[in-house]
This record gives sequence, C-alpha cells and structure tokens, in this order.
Amino acid sequence: MAASTPRQCLVTGANRGLGLEFCVQLLISGANVVATTRSTGRATKLNSLVAKYPGRLHVLPLDVSDAKSVAELVRELPLVAEGPFDLLINNAGVLHSGERFGHVTAANLDDSLRTNASGPFLLSQSIAESLADGAKIANISSQLGSIENTTAFYTPTYAISKAAQNMATRLLANALRERGIVVLALHPGWVQTEMGGPDAQIEPRVAVEGLLRVIDDAGLDDSGRFFDYTGRPMPW
Ligand code: NDP
Repeated sequence: MAASTPRQCLVTGANRGLGLEFCVQLLISGANVVATTRSTGRATKLNSLVAKYPGRLHVLPLDVSDAKSVAELVRELPLVAEGPFDLLINNAGVLHSGERFGHVTAANLDDSLRTNASGPFLLSQSIAESLADGAKIANISSQLGSIENTTAFYTPTYAISKAAQNMATRLLANALRERGIVVLALHPGWVQTEMGGPDAQIEPRVAVEGLLRVIDDAGLDDSGRFFDYTGRPMPW
C-alpha cells in the first residue's frame, strides 16, 4: 500500500456507477471500505465484492436524504470499522431530467436538495468525530453546479442542489481545517453511468482514477476548492 493510500474509507451511493468504481479501485489499492447503498439486498455487484475482499468490505444501508438513516449509519459504523476514517466520499446523487421552466416541481427540488446538498453536509457533520485528523472528504459535485458556467435553463433542481453542495464544501473545509481535514468539491467529468448516459465522454474507471489522484494530491491549501477529475480548477 502506498504511503498516501487511505486505509479506511466510506463511500455513499456505492451500488452502481461512480460509487461502485470508487469501491473497486480503493479495494484494489489495499484500503478497507465501508460502502453504503439505499438497498443492500439489491446491490448485487457490490455484494459480490464482499467475498473477493474478505473482512475488508462492509456494506451498510444509507439513504442520504433521510436524517434517521444517517443516524442509524453513525450508530453502526463502530461495529464494522477499525479505527477512524481517512476518506469520506459523498458520491450519492440524483438528477431529475427533463425539467422545464414553469413545470419544475417542489418535490424534485426538495429531493435534489436533500440528496445532493443536505445529505453530504449532514453526513460529514455526523461522522466528523469518526474522521482521522488529516482525513479527506470528497464531495462529488458537477460542472452543472458552477454558477459561472451556467448560461441556460438546464437541469435546474440538480444545478441548484450542486451549487448548494459547493457552499457546503467550503463551509465544511473551514470548520474542519484546524484538524487538518481536507474537503474538496470534485467534478468527475461526463461519465458513462446511468446518470451520465451512454453518450458520455469517459468511462467510470478513467473518472475514478483521476478523482483518486486529485484527492491523493490535495493538501490543506486546496481544502474548500473545486476541481475536475484531471485536477483542473473549476469556476464556482
Ligand atoms: P448513478 O445514477 O449511476 O448513481 C447514483 C448513485 O447515487 C446510486 O448508487 C444511487 O442509488 C445513489 N443515490 C441516489 N439517491 C440516493 C439517496 N437518497 N441515498 C443514497 N444513495 C442515493 O450516477 P453516477 O454514478 O454518475 O453519479 C455519482 C455522482 O457523480 C453523483 O453525485 C452525480 O451527481 C455526480 N456526477 C455524475 C456525472 C456523470 O456524468 N455521470 C457528472 C457530474 C457529476 P440507487 O441505486 O438506490 O438509486
């Protein structure tokens, strides 16, 4: 294991897409992983990794939009995790497509904000005491949450929620700086997942390799900043 390889990691939304790929690459690197998913029973690909990495992968239920579910996870973590976490990846996210001005619903806005903004913020706050000093939190953001880059009315509830998540990233970075904890907002690129669709530009493997490199390279001076998967700074 490389010196900088995180030993104990927590990944949300780990049953598919980027979350699953984060788990695969972290396990290959030698880390222990607590992987969370809304439905542990249906997480077939994730569950199949448990036998491949005995004792190193634990799968726990978590709906990031539900405060009770977050509290339940926090109660269960000490039962499976050995020592504090070195890395939290707030990856779970939702995108309601096809939204048009005049027809955006309160339900979509509420769901997007709870899942993409409140979820990562409240989970980070709840497990802050279980993070090692010098740990890292990666909030998986999106270029669609960049206010400066927004020139059209596109995916509004997603964009609003990711912009809110970006503020959460900066605030968490400020709150946790004195413990040496680095908090990053990261755009993964346009990735071939259920969310990104088949026309997306890059494979999850490429996006996650890049994101893990950016996380690995980030120091305290980078905390509270927004980067893409190649390490390029993103405009807020
Ligand atoms: P997917 O749609 O493939 O996966 C989303 C994951 O989030 C699933 O595991 C899903 O679980 C989980 N999830 C959704 N809502 C909740 C919830 N309330 N509680 C817990 N888990 C939840 O998307 P990606 O893998 O592409 O996305 C991962 C992250 O990357 C997201 O934050 C997304 O916004 C971001 N991103 C992706 C881009 C892309 O091009 N793919 C571009 C920019 C950002 P379930 O199976 O139960 O629904």
